[in-house]
Amino acid sequence: MAKKELRSENFVVYRTSRKTMLPSSAFLVKKSALTAPIVLQKLKAIYTPPRTFLTWRTPLDLLIVTILSAQCTDARVNIVSKALYRKYKTPQDYLQVSRIELEQDIHSCGTYRNKAKFIQELCAILLEKHGGKVPQTMEELIALPGVGRKTASIILYAAFGKNEGIAVDTHVLRLARRLGLTRAKVQHKIELDLMRATPKEDWGLLNTLLISHGRAVCTARNRQCGKCVFQKECPSSLVLGKRDLAKN
Ligand code: SF4
Repeated sequence: MAKKELRSENFVVYRTSRKTMLPSSAFLVKKSALTAPIVLQKLKAIYTPPRTFLTWRTPLDLLIVTILSAQCTDARVNIVSKALYRKYKTPQDYLQVSRIELEQDIHSCGTYRNKAKFIQELCAILLEKHGGKVPQTMEELIALPGVGRKTASIILYAAFGKNEGIAVDTHVLRLARRLGLTRAKVQHKIELDLMRATPKEDWGLLNTLLISHGRAVCTARNRQCGKCVFQKECPSSLVLGKRDLAKN
């Protein structure tokens, strides 16, 4: 595998071996003119997103609907949660119904058996270990069933105003790669690249801004580069005749 060797102003130089730095073993990759702070600055001027696109009243609501949002759209979850919130308000409420009843209530969000299991298991843990409250640390949250760093980052930012991670969903993954903010392909590596490049106080905001742009302009199926604020510097810009970096 090629190793990153050194950086110049405009290029990153890669080579295949530390011992044999031959011209044929080195290749140049054009650095993106865009940085996370520039992306933040430009997107802040366009969008004022909420801390989460999911509807919620309490941290428990947000924990439940964030679990429901896995492999489901926020729009669908927001429909389901309207009825859910009328019926369930506390961890005890989720434990008082049968597993089958809860599965029926969340059925349209998909993978409902796993999600119902996670919800009842984590509600039992909230009662046993956290006094019925949603914990406020990354460590405690990711110890709950069905909660990974993505879910925990959303809850910490939206419910408690804490920037402890960057939730990498499908929009963030696609935009970060298209804009050249990362070359990584897996969520945890993309999150690390974005965290290193972004001021901590903007971690949560970067997530919601990239989602906003990913929904409005740079969609999965359609790069609308002619309408995009990054059209002249984005390394995936169709205006510049570039290929889609999210696809390689
Ligand atoms: S220029 Fe095109 S590919 Fe780049 S962010 Fe904008 S819409 Fe997406």
